[in-house]
Amino acid sequence: MHAAQNLFVRVRLAGGATGYGEVAPFTALTGEHRAASERACRELAERLLGKSAARYRAVSRQMQEERPGEPAARCGLETALLDALCRAAGIPMWAWWGGGASGPLETDVTIPILPLPRALELARQWYGRGFRAFKLKIGAQIEADVERVLRIAEACPEVRFLLDANQGFTPDEAVAVLHKLHRLGERVLLFEQPVAKNDIQGLASVRARSTILISADEAVATVADARRVIEASAADVINLKITKSGLLETLDIATMARTAGLKLTIGGMVETRLAMGCSLAIALGWGDLYALDLDTPLLLAEDPLVGGYRYEGPRMTVWQAPGLGMEPRAPASRG
Ligand SMILES: [Mg+2]
Repeated sequence: MHAAQNLFVRVRLAGGATGYGEVAPFTALTGEHRAASERACRELAERLLGKSAARYRAVSRQMQEERPGEPAARCGLETALLDALCRAAGIPMWAWWGGGASGPLETDVTIPILPLPRALELARQWYGRGFRAFKLKIGAQIEADVERVLRIAEACPEVRFLLDANQGFTPDEAVAVLHKLHRLGERVLLFEQPVAKNDIQGLASVRARSTILISADEAVATVADARRVIEASAADVINLKITKSGLLETLDIATMARTAGLKLTIGGMVETRLAMGCSLAIALGWGDLYALDLDTPLLLAEDPLVGGYRYEGPRMTVWQAPGLGMEPRAPASRG
């Protein structure tokens, strides 16, 4: 991708507290795009007028019923509403979610499917900046994928890997890849979405033949999806994304998964620190997520926000200001 076309939304409560949220439609996954998301936001926003922010769950549920197919738009409004409510309450959003983590957390960094020399160069750069978890995209071509992973593992000895095939393999191909990467042992933290999102039985069959934890990403966007995956014993881990599910549905998925004994990771689409800050607040609030994939602000040429958390290498600092603690730069000029 060369550009992210996202939207910021602002909610102002009657008491004066203002909150911000980000709408990051990702067409390839949910079919949403910016123009439609903007329309959805404007329509949903009309109905928010006059409602009590204290009843944010009821508000969120109503948006879910009205616009089930617009998770990115809902997520932006839900984030802004919660941000405003936290600011009115005077607490950071991570405290709102429970303050489960005691200090800063680290993100992985994504290495896309690239020709080997470029992938190695990128891996060495991130390694030099202190990153010790790489999300390696695979799923294009088995031999090239395996060679890329092994060569990066050799070049970056302390790194652990999250493999993400983005639905690229058949179940048998996925198992073959795992066999070829067997020597990496515990350096592979998980293998995400090896097969097509609707192939829950295929996912289960990979899991049954794997010693590596299997993660469901595209396969789980809703609570109903999570239930299907859990009932089929198809995954060890669920990858949460507020933009694919909406904010409160993400937390419902997380509750269901954890209750069933699964591990959780959290990631995003291509998002700025605004949506990522909300996901980081969840990670800090719950405190026991298995891995974090909150790197896309590092991949953007500009940071359109001021305040909030910072990146120090892979570490994401804990902010103390209320809500997400950040504001869009020069909001007036952004309309
Ligand atoms: Mg993924």
